[in-house]
Amino acid sequence: MRIVLLGAPGSGKGTQAQKLVETYGIPQVSTGDLLRAELQSESKLGLRAKADMDAGRLVPDELVLELIQRRLEKDDARDGFILDGFPRNSSQARDLENLLREIEKPLDAVLLLDLDLDVLSKRLTGRRTCSVTGKLLNIHFSPQEELDACIAAGGELIQRADDNEETIANRLKVYQEQTRPLIEFYGSVDLLRVVDAMGAVEEVSGRMQKALDCL
Ligand code: ADP
Repeated sequence: MRIVLLGAPGSGKGTQAQKLVETYGIPQVSTGDLLRAELQSESKLGLRAKADMDAGRLVPDELVLELIQRRLEKDDARDGFILDGFPRNSSQARDLENLLREIEKPLDAVLLLDLDLDVLSKRLTGRRTCSVTGKLLNIHFSPQEELDACIAAGGELIQRADDNEETIANRLKVYQEQTRPLIEFYGSVDLLRVVDAMGAVEEVSGRMQKALDCL
């Protein structure tokens, strides 16, 4: 199964991608994660991407395309993949079409995680990771016991570098201007499935499952 997860920052693409990894045994390919790994290893590509990522802008298309190409060549992506965070503009969508045509592996579906702007903002501003357990939490939505458990384990609630208010506003703007038009594009080629992304993780993944079952 080859799918793209489309949705604004904070719509839950990463979390839902992990669920699909468990269900289908195919890898999640997240350009955000790939870029953060490049940054961590201080590669040339990572260093070129840093300023754009810190500001919440898109990094140049050729950089993400290179990462995607390298990743999709790996053995574990042979039987399918879940693209998370790519494509993010129409030129990347065209690049992806060309790439998949070359390797004769067209997409099966594009799932849009649909969520209201207010909820998106809260999800992003409240997002934290526990420094000890690595668990993803949210100061607005996680049960107090889960937040307390991190502190009790000696952990701290860490905020991602690009989850500050200014960068979040920029990421949402970039989504509206550059990524949202892809909804129409994938609708016109009959690949789009819209999934309501409001509610608990399990509820949303149930809806995703249903959307994929009818493929
Ligand atoms: P989110 O979806 O929560 O904004 P990601 O982890 O997907 O976060 O991406 C973080 C940052 O990495 C983006 O703000 C952008 O700077 C960069 N990035 C990720 N994917 C792409 C892409 N496909 N094209 C350009 N830049 C990207």
